[in-house]
Parts: sequence; C-alpha cells; structure tokens
Amino acid sequence: MAKIHVLDEHIANQIAAGEVVERPASVVKELVENSIDAGSTRIDVSVYEGGLQTIRVTDNGGGIDPDDMETAFYRHATSKIENGRDLFEITSLGFRGEALPSIAAVSKVRLVSSNKDDGRGREIVIEGGKLIRHEDITASQGTDFTVEELFYNTPARLKYMKTIQTELGHISDAIYRMALSHPHIAFTLRHNGNMLLQTIGNGDLVQVIAAIYGTSAAKTMLPVNGENLDYKISGFVSRPDFTRANRNGISTIINGRYIRNYGLNQALLKAYHTLLPINRFPLAVLQLEMHPSLVDVNVHPAKLEVRFSKEAELYAFVEEIVHAALRQEVLIPQVVKQT
Ligand code: ADP
Ligand code: MG
Repeated sequence: MAKIHVLDEHIANQIAAGEVVERPASVVKELVENSIDAGSTRIDVSVYEGGLQTIRVTDNGGGIDPDDMETAFYRHATSKIENGRDLFEITSLGFRGEALPSIAAVSKVRLVSSNKDDGRGREIVIEGGKLIRHEDITASQGTDFTVEELFYNTPARLKYMKTIQTELGHISDAIYRMALSHPHIAFTLRHNGNMLLQTIGNGDLVQVIAAIYGTSAAKTMLPVNGENLDYKISGFVSRPDFTRANRNGISTIINGRYIRNYGLNQALLKAYHTLLPINRFPLAVLQLEMHPSLVDVNVHPAKLEVRFSKEAELYAFVEEIVHAALRQEVLIPQVVKQT
C-alpha cells in the first residue's frame, strides 16, 4: 500500500463535483440559488444545447467584492455562515461553499461581478479549475456567470449525459421550482435563444403557476393558509377534479427552498381523502415557513432532502390545513346541494 496523503485541492474539487454537479441542471440550480441568496430581484437564465454547451445566469443582486472573487472558488469558501452554530440555523440556500469550486473544476467558467453601483467590477476566467485570467473591468452591479463545455475534462461523466431534450427538461424543472419558491423574483429561461419561461416577479404565486402550468390549471387552484406556533403554511392546491398522472406537480418549499419529502407528500395526499381518483395526483405548491432550527438542510450535498425535528406534528398540520382548504371550497357546497 502507498503512504497515506491528503489529496490536493484540485482533485478534492473534482471529487466534490461528482456529488454536486450531476448534470447541467445541477449547475443551473447552484448558480440561481447563489443569485437568490444575493438578494436579486431579476434572474435571467440562458442555456444552449440542453446546457451542455453553455449555461449563463445573470442577476442584479449584491454582487461579489472584486477582492473576494478568487476566494469564492476555493473549497468551503462562503460568505453565508461563519461558525458551527450557524449550521443549525441556515437561512440561505447555500452554505457549503462547494458549488463554485466544483463547477469550475469540470467546465470553463467566466464570472463577471460588481458589488457597487460605480461601474467597477472584475472578470475572472477559470478552466478545469485553473485560473486563466482576472482583470478589472466595467460592470453594473450584479453577477454574470457563464459556464461552458461542462464535463469537457471528465469524459466518463459526459458520456452519461442524456439527450438535449432530457437535460433541458431537468433545467426547466429546476427553474420552475425556484420560480415557485420565489414569486417576488422575475425569472426568465431561454434555450438556444428562445424564451421558455418568464415570470413577472410581483409576488403573485398564481401568476407563476399560470406561467408554468397554464392559466386553466391556475384557475383550479384553491388557496391554502394556516399558522400555528411552529409553522406557517401558504400556497395553492388544485381542486380534486383537476389531477395529473404523476406527482411532479407537487412542490413543497421550506423557507424558500424547494425540497423533496415523502412524508409531506403523503400528508398532502391524505388531506384529499377519497377525493382523488386512484393513481391521480393534485397540482400543489405549498410554502412552509418555520424557524430554521426546526429543519436540518445539511443532509445531502444537493440539499434536496431535509430532516424535520418535529415531523409528525408538521405532517399532521399540513394535512389539517390542506384538508380545511378543500373542505371549505369543495365539500361544503356539495353537502349543501344534497340537502
Ligand atoms: P455557497 O453558496 O455555499 O456559499 P458557492 O460556492 O455557491 O458557496 O459560492 C461561494 C460564494 O460566492 C458565496 O458564498 C457568495 O459569497 C459568492 N457568490 C456566488 N455567486 C454569487 C452571486 N450570484 N452573487 C453574489 N455572490 C455570489
Ligand atoms: Mg451556492
């Protein structure tokens, strides 16, 4: 056996990239999450060839200090948490400081950012984790991030990419979830120059639902609202007569983060009782707010899965509130009609 040694930063980044950057959609998700964390009110995403050729995310957020731009590409470099305690009270989407070094390790990256309104910014170009150049340039406040030729230096990973249509599907899905989670942000998504999604960013969730699922779907939505000491829930669920063949139309959002959780999905479905036809699922967007100490998001690198500290209570609450919304709008009128 060879002697044990610590791997250098470049290899460590490539290993992390294997977990964080599964496909173009993961890059889109990480970049847009950074834009959201930066307080942006507009985020424009433009991809070419399913994101395999180019992914570009432009935002009008707080930007990066020119002096910090290189540091942002170091492993575990983050402006979002400072100490171990912060880890139990995450309020941002990112905190692991892994996305930028991981993405830069497996693609060609150009980052332009300015954190001031004086037109001064910096450009940095990194290819396969190697710094190619950085220079001061004029830029308006915000960040413009371009990723080209993803996986160009990891042929084994590149080989596993699906068709352009499939990769684009995953990208759209990621943008849909983030747009639903942040109705106050104006999003656009373009593919090969064609506009696929545009949200206004006026805070109206129904308009976002209409932009994604169509106006007729949006019209069937019932508002859900409730609050107890620990949780606040808002959002929309479809009437039981508007259903879909799969669960993809169910979005659960915790403190602005889209997550996947079996228990929450089940709580939602249980709220419909027997109202749903067999193997049919509602369209639903549930936004839950809770103190960050009640949810652990540090479970998985992609942060799609979370753990709740009081899960049984949460599921019961969701079921109760959704059920109340359905009962009020659907069941009571039916009962009245029968008598
Ligand atoms: P994390 O999001 O976990 O902090 P990242 O690797 O995604 O780690 O980003 C590193 C840092 O770069 C962030 O903490 C943030 O300070 C900065 N950053 C990245 N993207 C942006 C952006 N669009 N606007 C402002 N700052 C950004
Ligand atoms: Mg991040």
